[in-house]
Amino acid sequence: MSTREADTATLGPIGRRPLAMTIADQAGPLLAGRGSDLAQHRRLYGDMPAHDGTALARLLDESGLTGRGGGGFPTGTKLRTVLAQRRRPVVIANGSEGEPLSAKDCTLLTVNPHLVIDGVLAVAQATHAAEVVIVVHDAQAGILRRALGGRPDAARITVTSAGDRFISGEASAVASRVEGGDGLPFDRTRPIAQEGPGRRPLFVGNVETFADIALIARFGAGWFRRLGGGEPGTRLVTVTGDVGHRCVAEVPVGEPVGRIIETAGGAPRGSVALVGGFSGGWIGETDWDVAHDDSALSAYGARVGAGIVHVIGPARCPLRFGGSVLAFLAAQSAGQCGPCLFGLPALSAAFDRVVHGVAGPHVQQRVGDLAAAVDHRGMCHHPDGAAAFARATLAAFPDEIIRHRNGRCHRP
Ligand code: SF4
Repeated sequence: MSTREADTATLGPIGRRPLAMTIADQAGPLLAGRGSDLAQHRRLYGDMPAHDGTALARLLDESGLTGRGGGGFPTGTKLRTVLAQRRRPVVIANGSEGEPLSAKDCTLLTVNPHLVIDGVLAVAQATHAAEVVIVVHDAQAGILRRALGGRPDAARITVTSAGDRFISGEASAVASRVEGGDGLPFDRTRPIAQEGPGRRPLFVGNVETFADIALIARFGAGWFRRLGGGEPGTRLVTVTGDVGHRCVAEVPVGEPVGRIIETAGGAPRGSVALVGGFSGGWIGETDWDVAHDDSALSAYGARVGAGIVHVIGPARCPLRFGGSVLAFLAAQSAGQCGPCLFGLPALSAAFDRVVHGVAGPHVQQRVGDLAAAVDHRGMCHHPDGAAAFARATLAAFPDEIIRHRNGRCHRP
C-alpha cells in the first residue's frame, strides 16, 4: 500500500528516538489536514460552531468519545466535572507522548494542528477557562506556533515544552509541569478535574481527544459514532516493528488488528503483535482478526492504550524484547514511591533471568509475586503497566521460556 510521507520523517516521539514515519493512505478525518495553512483548514472542515458548556458536554456524552491518551475516560464526564467546579479551569492539551513506540500525537500536530487548536478553543470557551495550554515537544512547537500565529482567536493559547521521560505524559505530571512544579506525577487524592496542584480545576486531554472534540462539535455525535466499528470514532494507531513500513494510521475503532497491520504493509508469517504499548499484551497472528477495541483486546491482556501496535517477526525474540522493555520501564521510575523505585528493578532482574535461561521452574510465580508487590502501589499507574506487561509477556510465550531455559534461542 502506498503512503504519503509526513513532515515527521525525522521526528522522534520523545525527541530522542527518530522514527521514519509515514501516514497510511486511507487517512480519516483526523489526518486529512495539510499543516498550518488556516484557509485550507477552513475549506476542508468549515467553521467551528460555538457551544456552551452544557451543550458541549451533552454532545460529548452522546458521541461516546473517550480519552485517546491511554486512560479511555469518558470525555463528556470529565467536562461535566470541570464545569461543576466553582473556580475557572485550566485547559491543557497534552502532546507529551511519552511512549517510545508512539508517534501519533507528533504526527497529528504536524499534519493537523488547527484541528487540535479548534478543539482546545471549544473546551476553553465552554468552560470559561482561565488559562489554555498546549504541551508539545520542541519538534512540534514550530508548526504549532506558526498555526497559532495566524489565528487571533487563539491568542490566549500558550505553548509549553513537554518533558522527555516516559512518565512525562501522565496527566498529573503534565499538570504539575504547567503549574510550575517538577513535572512528576503527584498523589491525586482529588481528581485533577476538581482540583489540580495550583488549586484550580484542570481539563487535561490528549491532543487527539481535542481534535475529536473539534470534529464532534462540527459534525455531531451521530456522525462520530458512525465512524467506528464496534465503538464510536476513529483511532490513530502507530504501527512499528517488523512491518512493511512503519506508519501512523487512522482506523475505525474496532478495526481488526490484522487489517491495521496490513495498512503498514503486513508482517512476515509467524509474527506476534504487542498491542497497547508498554502496558499492553501480545496477540499471535492466528488471532489478528480480533477487533482493536478494549473489550475485545482484554481477552489477551491487551488494550488500545495510546494506539500502539508493534510487530515482532520470527527473526526476533519477544522475550528478549520484553526484557528490554522492563529494563526501560524500571529506569523511568520517577523515584518517588518505594514499590516503584525498588520493585521495578527487581521485576526487571527476575525477568532477565528468564531471558538468560537461568530461571528456575518457579520463575513465573516469582515474577507474579513481584508484579503483585508493585501493582497499584505507586502514585501513578507506571508500575501497574509494567506489572501487566511482565505478566502478559510470560503468559504469552511459555514455549519460548522453555527454549531459553534449554539454551535454544539465539535470536536477537
Ligand atoms: S509510581 Fe513510580 S513513576 Fe509513578 S509517581 Fe511513583 S515513583 Fe513516580
